[in-house]
Amino acid sequence: MSIAITTTKRGPALLAYCRPGFEPELAAELSARAAERDHWGHAVTERNTGVVRYVCTSAPMLERQLAFDDLIFARQKLLGFAELDALDPKDRITPLLAALEASRDSLVAGASAAGALRFGDLVVEHSDSDAGRELAGLARGFGNALRPALRKPGWLTDKPDARKPRLHVLLHSGTRMDLALSRAGDSSPWPGGIPRLRQPPNAPSRSAAKLDEAIHTLLTGDERAQLLREGLRGADLGAAPGGWTWVLVRAGLRVTAVDNGPLKEPVAGHPQVEHLRADGFRWQPARPLDWMVCDMVEQPRRVAERMAEWFREGWCRSAIFNLKLPMKKRWDETVLCLDLFRQQAGELKALHARQLYHDREEITVFARR
Ligand code: SAM
Repeated sequence: MSIAITTTKRGPALLAYCRPGFEPELAAELSARAAERDHWGHAVTERNTGVVRYVCTSAPMLERQLAFDDLIFARQKLLGFAELDALDPKDRITPLLAALEASRDSLVAGASAAGALRFGDLVVEHSDSDAGRELAGLARGFGNALRPALRKPGWLTDKPDARKPRLHVLLHSGTRMDLALSRAGDSSPWPGGIPRLRQPPNAPSRSAAKLDEAIHTLLTGDERAQLLREGLRGADLGAAPGGWTWVLVRAGLRVTAVDNGPLKEPVAGHPQVEHLRADGFRWQPARPLDWMVCDMVEQPRRVAERMAEWFREGWCRSAIFNLKLPMKKRWDETVLCLDLFRQQAGELKALHARQLYHDREEITVFARR
């Protein structure tokens, strides 16, 4: 049986997942962030796989220095420590255990910082591409077979332990896989980095799921509890048909929904909603608001400048807004728009941007004064 553990060939790697098609943006982001920290490597990716590998000898250190929350195009961030190729479909477990054993020293070194050598959970996953999704059945079956085989030699805790590092098996095909680890609190807790959230009930549009995802992934638990309470007030710029307004209303806010278009039930006529037919780039609140959200489809620089004005003028304390990306040079435009916003907004306590699962050609930004 041939096992190729290419940690010895290519070295360890930072592995990150993204929306398929956005590999160039994620590769550019990882390269830029690594270079800022004096790590020199190179990004390897295949178009539409949704996986980018940043190979550099200091990947374990880079993985710790690059906080998951600061990455924009990454749905998940992992430390890849072994690649297995040319596997025999009749027995993938023996070579996997051998690869773990061969990586034991580096895992022990990493574990002293990560908390333990024993993994607290196993995630067998595949990319979010069409080809990747065909591996869903294999991922389930392999995970069920692998779990007891990992427990026996002590690689995996008997019950899931969310404080310990997780072992990820990323299937590329039936015969090729990556082994990687993620650290609790500095990675996405969701398999594939895709949050499984239920669509807010009765929402007038599917966009509601986007704001819901933003609230669950860009805000901390404390921020959600403090900033989204009954009795607070907000504005929704570009609100129609009302999905985002609905998410705020369900959190207990009173909302001014600004849009020339019509709102749909249950937002239309709701006692917590005031509908203003006005231009979202000109309207300003009569008094400061707790929240502003904005989903207007416009040039991203124009949106970034207007959002910054809201903060500079003190019209809101927190905001979530979308920046629709152009077809080309999307990473450059992202950097430019966020720099512009940062420079013009004044002092901020938090600024997080991410391409959410529900985002297509756009990113979503959360900012707080
Ligand atoms: N977030 C909404 C939801 O959840 O239902 C969907 C918003 S939709 C993507 C964009 C909206 O922005 C459209 O209804 C459009 O009328 C509105 N819009 C675009 N430019 C605007 C402007 N200058 N002022 C107000 N609304 C605007």
